[in-house]
Amino acid sequence: MKPTLEVLPLNSWIETNGKPLIISGPCSAETEEQVVETARQLASLNAVHVLRAGVWKPRTRPGSFEGQGEKALPWLQRAKAETGLPVAVEVATPEHIELALKYGVDILWIGARTTVNPFNVQEIADALRGVDVPVLIKNPVNPDLALWVGAFERIAGAGITKLAAIHRGFSTGETSKYRNIPLWQLAIELKDMFPNLPVIGDPSHMAGKRAYLQELSQMSMDLNYDGLIVESHIDPDNAWSDAAQQLTPVHFGEMLDQLQIRKVESSNVEFKGALEQIRATIDNVDRQLVEMLAARMALVEKLAEYKRENNVTIFQPDRWKELHESRSKQAKKMGLYPELVEEIFKIIHMESIRKQTELMNSNTQNA
Ligand code: PEP
Ligand code: MN
Repeated sequence: MKPTLEVLPLNSWIETNGKPLIISGPCSAETEEQVVETARQLASLNAVHVLRAGVWKPRTRPGSFEGQGEKALPWLQRAKAETGLPVAVEVATPEHIELALKYGVDILWIGARTTVNPFNVQEIADALRGVDVPVLIKNPVNPDLALWVGAFERIAGAGITKLAAIHRGFSTGETSKYRNIPLWQLAIELKDMFPNLPVIGDPSHMAGKRAYLQELSQMSMDLNYDGLIVESHIDPDNAWSDAAQQLTPVHFGEMLDQLQIRKVESSNVEFKGALEQIRATIDNVDRQLVEMLAARMALVEKLAEYKRENNVTIFQPDRWKELHESRSKQAKKMGLYPELVEEIFKIIHMESIRKQTELMNSNTQNA
């Protein structure tokens, strides 16, 4: 059975005038001056709807700056009073929730290191029972969709209906130019499961570096995300946490100006006709892809037979090396992203080994 989630539309709790929801502010609230000045500069962009700031910082290692805690909450109140921007903070315990609500925080978010732990999420859910506050849930650190879904079910189970997902990328152990690999497919699967759930892109924590913010923000917009949460700081290089990925409010404004926000649908008949034609051609190409895969697998079966007769191992490292190098070289030549083709061939090769193992073993048993 498909899980369901009662979710209110974004515009029922935050006014964005039909534009994507833009949340920005420092990774951490450091000083009163830093919070208020960042908020002022963000407000003057006339494009930001919510001020974010971390007050309790979950740090991987002890000894790093762990946030100013309760004493930073009045700074957020002041920033809100001066700019009119509602404020959002990360909460990880019932005590955080109690304090955040006491100081008039408007929106709460659950961080990636909390979403991984169902005990924590349940404690938060229990503390939220009977409270009417929007809750944004970041994806868990590891690429486990069920944990993310479970967090929504727990928080929704406490009666929270003002919900949204924050996609901040995943830690997979693989090296990537990004701090956290986006794995867009996982967020798309979440959206497939809960079509009404707004999804907000967090290019800052995906990127880890300012240089990648633009491309990741654009990708989020191209995937029709409902908004962005981007870290900004009046003096990013001297930020007390996540210095490399924050940018000044002014630079953030410039980045927003360069974003292309495309429409989901068009009523233009000519456009619709062209779209249908291209989609039909894509269907055709996909059919050929599947046929080619089947043809390749048939060859693999033949190969297994020869290998068995000649008593050679299934996996031959030189062959694999040659195969994956030549395919990614070919991909590059054809203007394809080489990593994509490499990944596809890794999967194909894994399946071909599985198939060969199956055939060789069944043949041995029969012999
Ligand atoms: C943050 O938003 O500053 C933060 C700690 O993010 P995450 O939970 O995505 O690591
Ligand atoms: Mn951060």
